[in-house]
Amino acid sequence: MSTENILDRPIQNTQKISPLYLKRLQKVGVFSLRDLFYYFPTRYIDFSKVIPINQLKLDEPATVSGKIFDIKNNRAWYKKINITQAVLQDKTGFLKVVWFNQPFITKNLTKGDIVNLAGKLSYKNKESLFSNPAYEKLTDKQINTGRLVPVYKETKGLTSRWLRFFIKKNLDTFLEEIKENLNKDILNEQKLDSIKESLLQIHFPDSQKKLQQAQKRFAFEELFLIQLFSLKQKLNNQEQKAVSIEFDEDLTKKFVVSLPFKLTTAQRKSAWEILKDIEKGIPMNRLLEGDVGSGKTVVAAISMLQAAKNGFQAALMAPTEILAQQHYKTLSDSFSGQKLSMALLTSKTVKVGRKIVTRKEILEKILQGKIKIIVGTHALIQKNVQFKNLALVIVDEQHRFGVTQRAAFVKNINSLKDGLEKTIPHFLSMTATPIPRTLALTIYGDLDISLLDQAPKNREIIKTFVIPPSKRDGAYKFIAKEVKQGRQAFVICPRIEKSETTENSKDKRKTAWQEVKAVTQEHEKLNTKIFPQLKIDMLHGKMKAPEKEKIMENFKKGKSDILVSTSVIEVGIDIPNATIMMIENADRFGLAQLHQFRGRVGRGQHQSFCFLFSDSKQPETIKRLRALTQAKNGFELSEIDLEIRGPGEFLGAKQSGLPDLLMASLTNIEMIKQARAQAQKTLRQDPDLESLPQLKSQIKNLENNVHRE
Ligand code: ADP
Ligand code: MG
Repeated sequence: MSTENILDRPIQNTQKISPLYLKRLQKVGVFSLRDLFYYFPTRYIDFSKVIPINQLKLDEPATVSGKIFDIKNNRAWYKKINITQAVLQDKTGFLKVVWFNQPFITKNLTKGDIVNLAGKLSYKNKESLFSNPAYEKLTDKQINTGRLVPVYKETKGLTSRWLRFFIKKNLDTFLEEIKENLNKDILNEQKLDSIKESLLQIHFPDSQKKLQQAQKRFAFEELFLIQLFSLKQKLNNQEQKAVSIEFDEDLTKKFVVSLPFKLTTAQRKSAWEILKDIEKGIPMNRLLEGDVGSGKTVVAAISMLQAAKNGFQAALMAPTEILAQQHYKTLSDSFSGQKLSMALLTSKTVKVGRKIVTRKEILEKILQGKIKIIVGTHALIQKNVQFKNLALVIVDEQHRFGVTQRAAFVKNINSLKDGLEKTIPHFLSMTATPIPRTLALTIYGDLDISLLDQAPKNREIIKTFVIPPSKRDGAYKFIAKEVKQGRQAFVICPRIEKSETTENSKDKRKTAWQEVKAVTQEHEKLNTKIFPQLKIDMLHGKMKAPEKEKIMENFKKGKSDILVSTSVIEVGIDIPNATIMMIENADRFGLAQLHQFRGRVGRGQHQSFCFLFSDSKQPETIKRLRALTQAKNGFELSEIDLEIRGPGEFLGAKQSGLPDLLMASLTNIEMIKQARAQAQKTLRQDPDLESLPQLKSQIKNLENNVHRE
């Protein structure tokens, strides 16, 4: 028996295809037959109604069936446009038809042909006509007319019409050879159609109902695969060993009492979950999820203290230099009574205690175990950093990673030279972007979750306003008044140009400079025209670390009144005296991100405000921004964002590489639960996935990708 899975066959070995088309397909990610068959339509046009000519209604999609009474190309009356004019005849009358710039149509259709035309009747120059309809001879199989017609994502030279033709041809040739990739039990339990039926129906549905049934099947298949993947990761993790960090209750109590505030119940519960977890000899793999300002840092501190006092090393990694600096300061302050050696390691700054040291020096001290608490950026997990006994790794703000990226990240951490034989460090990931539950279940399927669902003490609600251009001056006046009373303000500017491609480094650099430009201009404007009497500083990603640090320090100490910044300010910065967050072009950010910005204020005892500036007149945009003025917490907002902008916002569409269909199904909590339950059951009964050889190999591919990253 051949073991070839027909779906793996390269597209050039299927039908005859020109190099040009092959290239175009590859451009949209279609390399194999699987890619082609899983290149699902993005929508469908309902041309299923076949209607006599005399019953056509204006602007309603329909198919008419008849004989070509006349057809000719005409380029005489307007030089650059070719017009094909035709007349279709059926039993009830005649229909005028025009096509623009498709002269080849007269090669495909000639007088006397019996055809289907699908389109909408329009009314122009006092006559009704079909313009640019889809056409099909009735001798052909109907894939363009007379049915639900699939529409694909097109690129230059790759039309839906061609894709229909090519997909149909391949379905006709190979459908019978396709093997089911789910097993019978699963299909029965989930009431799903077979893969063959579903592939046919998703491309060329017989009815809306069959289409939905097919979509459901593929959405389930994808979710099921992801759940299998993450559950397997989890099982693998449980087979690993970690050092046991003993829970010293006395130590913890004393530390908690030394804090300037009382922990919330949620903080205590989460800290307890973590401390219990790291006591086990199995690596912790946990997510600490909590809204901005919910106080994640102190929970991290409690666990790091535990590790350090047990003689191990603990590392805290932040996504930005600024945040690493801040964490270092916070931890240094809270551990001041603990006699712990601490170090800061970023690509720009290297410190032991308060002293700047050389890189060589710090690496040595880390290797010798002379430093117990290490705070840093990604610089921490570079190959040259070797630990003596790293037992706990905490990563802040890791919410932008999809499931495979995150797995890769854990792998990275697992391969750290932690100095401990045959164990891997406990891992805690912290996220301030509250992720909708549905997504958390999917993306973080392999993690245990601790939730900080409670804000410390009675924080005032931040008053939030969407400000149209006409009210800008009023907002500026208000800011001036607040500053006069001793408060401070942030001004955030997004880059003005939109750039989708940040993949290559050149674009990245360009984007960064665009941000700098936006910030510099805004700074100039505020400084000279709007608030000449105030002290205004600016902050952007192109500044050197010491400069940034100085500016943050000045702002924190109240030496400047307003800080104009790019989104580098986004995560974690803590300045209690700042009460105003003003955001330019707010509509360019996602709600969750805006909520993050807003979370920079409202941290002290003063009433705080958030002004969302937007020139947009689109009702949808305004509505989205208004959601911020009402939603009580980040979870609510993230649900709204999910609804309006789709899960790409959370996963990063590109990063996640998830197909649109799955994207949509991520909002379907019921299906996610089912997929998860099914995956658990399957793994219980068949841990090696022998009944699902195809999914098994797909999972292997995912795992390999993870290794390669
Ligand atoms: P986030 O969860 O956004 O990372 P932080 O850890 O930065 O939040 O905490 C936000 C602010 O709240 C900090 O100034 C911190 O000292 C303070 N904080 C943390 N926990 C409490 C608490 N239980 N009571 C009062 N203030 C707290
Ligand atoms: Mg934080």
